[in-house]
Amino acid sequence: MRYAVIGAGLAGLSAAYEIHQHAPEAAIEVFEATDRIGGKMFSVPFHSGPVDMGAEAFLARNQEAYAFFTEELGLRTVTPSGLPSSVYMGGQLRPLPHAGMMGIPADAEPIREIISEESARRIDAEAEQDPIPWTPGQDYSAGRLVRERYGDDVVDRLVSALLGGVYSCTADDLGIRATIPRLAATFDAMAEAGEPVYLSAAVRRLLEKRAQAAGSARGAGTGQGSVFAAFPGGYAEVYETLAERSGARIFIDAFITGLSRDPKGGYRLTGGGEGAYDRVILATPAPTTALLLKGIAPEAAQHIAGIRLASSAVVGMKFDTDEGLPQNSGILIAADEPGLHAKAFTLSSRKWPHLAERGGAVVRASFGRFGDDALVRAEEDDLVDYALDDLQAITGFDGRAAGLSEIYVQRWFGGIPCFDEHILERVRQAKEALAEISDLGVTGAWASGVGVPAVLADARRVARRLV
Ligand SMILES: Cc1cc2nc3c(=O)[nH]c(=O)nc-3n(C[C@H](O)[C@H](O)[C@H](O)COP(=O)(O)OP(=O)(O)OC[C@H]3O[C@@H](n4cnc5c(N)ncnc54)[C@H](O)[C@@H]3O)c2cc1C
Repeated sequence: MRYAVIGAGLAGLSAAYEIHQHAPEAAIEVFEATDRIGGKMFSVPFHSGPVDMGAEAFLARNQEAYAFFTEELGLRTVTPSGLPSSVYMGGQLRPLPHAGMMGIPADAEPIREIISEESARRIDAEAEQDPIPWTPGQDYSAGRLVRERYGDDVVDRLVSALLGGVYSCTADDLGIRATIPRLAATFDAMAEAGEPVYLSAAVRRLLEKRAQAAGSARGAGTGQGSVFAAFPGGYAEVYETLAERSGARIFIDAFITGLSRDPKGGYRLTGGGEGAYDRVILATPAPTTALLLKGIAPEAAQHIAGIRLASSAVVGMKFDTDEGLPQNSGILIAADEPGLHAKAFTLSSRKWPHLAERGGAVVRASFGRFGDDALVRAEEDDLVDYALDDLQAITGFDGRAAGLSEIYVQRWFGGIPCFDEHILERVRQAKEALAEISDLGVTGAWASGVGVPAVLADARRVARRLV
């Protein structure tokens, strides 16, 4: 049996690995368009050790992913320092308020200082408005909903900063169900029970559940450890191990431009590979997947083509000293903050003790939001200047004086699918249209959700279905 996997990111490599586990005799070929494997996992060899320019951590609370990396692949993980994160708004660095769901509070109290009196009043009086006309199963823009119920500043100062840190989009371009599924599920439950649906009541219900769950976990002595984990040698440990243990022949610089049915059965590729393949897995970003599916599954291709992508740029910087860098893991920047270019800083050597041990400081600056690629396309020198200027304006840390010894600028064009209020439906329809085709699989962040555990689980599931 011959398998072709297109794309050597996390999805493609874990699909190849999974096929090999279940069908060790299978011939697996992986085709990667660029000159390296890993996709959005990319550990750059700084002089003092590898620094991740894409994904840097994963949700270790996800037992399946944690067990896969540590037990199955035998990788060692490291945990963050636990230093708090801050948010920069109104010209001040403030502790990130925790009492809410991705910055959406149940009442005004925890964020009173950072929003207008009018918004505070609206939050506390939300139950006096008409209920949200919610149909179970629907999705709706997170930004629009919070603007309508609470006020613009709650979105621009908090919700967009928090969600944008993960999704490279402002809250207006993100769906509630697509990004905060438990909140959408609470709306569903309220609507199904015939209760009026209110944002504040739904958030309160979720926070109570979270407090109960935390209480019972403590009571049962099941300390879950850190929420996030990383790899001491960066994500290279993951992609190199997966590649080695996948038993696959991996072709880099192999840009696949077409996929067609072979008259004798199976598939043929254009742009790489030879002969026919019995099974094909497309582990490529949405636009490429749509293009490759066009001739084989036009309906699915059409749904996938509707998925939009957000771009971002990361500037990784190594300084000789960390003196003066605040004791924070990261800093989010409010979307309405004037005069700044960056959207967030990860103070990597504060966040990760294994990076601090190398001496000096490592900081990552992130730029770019959906619909605004100008910064992602900016000159490299300009991006570095913006990163240094913004870091100094926000924290007082003078990166030029601190000895900027290494810099790496990474642009992620179309790096993250935009998890707007349409994506879940598009993915559902695409999967439905593909359900009958048993020798072809599609997977990747657009189909599964952006987090590493979700991408990994979906890719392994798709691979098992094909074996
Ligand atoms: C800056 C950034 C930071 C992130 N941080 C985190 C984090 O800390 N934690 C977390 O859980 N998630 C994080 N993510 C998300 C996570 O990294 C991604 O969701 C995941 O790595 C996506 O894997 P993938 O295999 O679906 O896609 P990709 O990594 O994009 O892989 C797809 C591969 O297909 C290749 N390809 C495309 N077209 C073709 C073609 N025609 N022929 C052949 N090959 C092709 C591409 O070159 C690429 O290598 C981050 C993402 C970004 C961009």
